[in-house]
Amino acid sequence: MSDRAIKVTCPTHGESFATFVCQHLAHGAGRGFFSADDGTGADPCPDAWCAECDSLLMAKGKWDEESEAFAGITLLCAGCYAAVKQRNLVREGEGGDKKHRVANEGGVARAKESGPTGR
Ligand SMILES: [Zn+2]
Ligand SMILES: [Zn+2]
Repeated sequence: MSDRAIKVTCPTHGESFATFVCQHLAHGAGRGFFSADDGTGADPCPDAWCAECDSLLMAKGKWDEESEAFAGITLLCAGCYAAVKQRNLVREGEGGDKKHRVANEGGVARAKESGPTGR
């Protein structure tokens, strides 16, 4: 869950609030994007994790010490979260699912202002 009580200052995006993603999303691309979004849109930046973490989570049925250790949850600013989401929603080498991707982007389109995509 993003936590607006925790202020973070990002060198790229400036002051923002804290969001949490797994280490694979934070450092990777095209990892798949799963989140704790309950569908209400109440939290624009729900905790998020990659496909590998999700399969471990599914196997265990819940987050526990082992799955949390594997995920290595990383704190990001809201701007970085949006960038990470965009980067990981699309699988590397798969260009055929753009419509789905756009549908998933929702309110994060503003993130595009923060930097041109290199590819
Ligand atoms: Zn992960
Ligand atoms: Zn940032």
